[in-house]
Amino acid sequence: MKIIKLPAVLYKSLKKSRSAGKTIGFVPTMGALHAGHLSLIRQARKENSIVVVSIFVNPAQFGPKEDLKKYPRPLNKDLALCRKERVDFVFSPRPEEMYGEGFSTYVNVERLSETLCGKSRPGHFRGVATIVAKLLNIGQPDIIYLGQKDAQQAIIVKRMARDLNIPVKVKIMPTVRQRDGLALSSRNAYLDKKEKKDALVLSAALNLAKLFIKSGARDASRIINRMKRVVNKKKSSRIDYIAIVDTASLKPVRKISGECLIALAVRIGRTRLIDNIIVRA
Ligand code: AMP
Repeated sequence: MKIIKLPAVLYKSLKKSRSAGKTIGFVPTMGALHAGHLSLIRQARKENSIVVVSIFVNPAQFGPKEDLKKYPRPLNKDLALCRKERVDFVFSPRPEEMYGEGFSTYVNVERLSETLCGKSRPGHFRGVATIVAKLLNIGQPDIIYLGQKDAQQAIIVKRMARDLNIPVKVKIMPTVRQRDGLALSSRNAYLDKKEKKDALVLSAALNLAKLFIKSGARDASRIINRMKRVVNKKKSSRIDYIAIVDTASLKPVRKISGECLIALAVRIGRTRLIDNIIVRA
């Protein structure tokens, strides 16, 4: 496994692989790898001759009051995990390398970036789209692997690739959860023991919504209200949003028919957590 710090070095190495006819799978991450990340890496390993994992805590996607500084960075542990998964290249550039002096070009995926998480995290998806565009330009992979856990991010990256004619296939892998339902996230590390229990309200609310829809409920606002009640049962929780939206446009759905995305963001203590499911009525 090669560990690469410089964009130009990764570009050159992968150019060689490409001209040798090898296919490239790319898994972008911010590190602090867990089983969710590993599921993406394993899928990439199955489907490509070369697997690239980027580990980069992207400053451009953090707001001024967010957790950029304290975001976990267990690089050595991450590298060991990548080695075990037979990753070919780990790309872990320094921020100065990705955002050099005078950096001034950003990718903004309009509308899709302004709703749900984009409302409470202004500029977040601009940062995400920009770094993913940069990584795709540097790596030029055949397939990029993303997690359903960050549903809005996945939809935005798909839109960007289409809109900007970036020749990459975007594959979305299912959310990996603990046995108790909690979606794995690097930010779960911020939770204390009690908060970890309280955090189960996210998946519990989603499961309840799914059950309601299965038993015939179609009115989105009623389902959302029931979900709110579940989440508000915990003193430590504060709802950012609970929404039922169209899976393509992310616009709110009033009456559920066909496929919809049920998504929520909830603060448990000081930690903001997100989760979602796709439901077909
Ligand atoms: P992050 O390191 O949080 O930026 O995540 C890197 C990639 O892993 C993103 O595509 C995420 O959607 C994905 N991911 C994070 N958590 C999970 C999870 N629990 N299950 C599946 N994919 C995940």
